[in-house]
Amino acid sequence: MSSLYNLSPIPHILDIRCPKCGGDARFEFGEVVKIKRRADVPFFRDSHLFEYRQVTDSCGHRWHAAIYYAALHGGSTNAIRGLPEGYQPSDWDHSEYLRWGHTVIGAYACHSCHDVRRHDLSWPTDAFFQIDYRGETLWAFHRESAIALQNYIAASHRDADTSPWSRMLMHVPTHFLAASARDAVLTRLERLLGSERSSRKSTIAKR
Ligand SMILES: [Zn+2]
Repeated sequence: MSSLYNLSPIPHILDIRCPKCGGDARFEFGEVVKIKRRADVPFFRDSHLFEYRQVTDSCGHRWHAAIYYAALHGGSTNAIRGLPEGYQPSDWDHSEYLRWGHTVIGAYACHSCHDVRRHDLSWPTDAFFQIDYRGETLWAFHRESAIALQNYIAASHRDADTSPWSRMLMHVPTHFLAASARDAVLTRLERLLGSERSSRKSTIAKR
């Protein structure tokens, strides 16, 4: 299953099981930007907004990176201020495309226990939307794709899917699509989608 992650694009934001409470947490990949001038390094190294790292690429070249974790700052780049000349907060925006799964660095904010923390992604182990059926695991990136998965499995005719998750749906193992599996798989997915809803409700009630 893990090979799927390397073969397929992945969204910038995922639902993961909170490492602290097991609830639904929002994980967001960190964005890495190359620091242009050596003179800018102290700014990024000392900033509480950025993580500074020295990176060595495959050719052995060393460069300086400024990493921003939106999940640690309310889920946007709005917190970024006072950058040295030549940088914009939008340099740390996610691209409009899905990402290919090579980096694991990111951070999460939990809807249930409100834990906010740096986190190296382990996918699909971390997936919040995952169910087991007869020894195999089926997972979805987040709520939206879990619903797409649910509809796909429930459908009697599976036409070419046009949703952004069509590639993920194309790779659903037949193990989960067999008529004999359908009811059990759908029940488990429904339970997860339902529990996710109620955990959000209780979060709101606590506020
Ligand atoms: Zn939590």
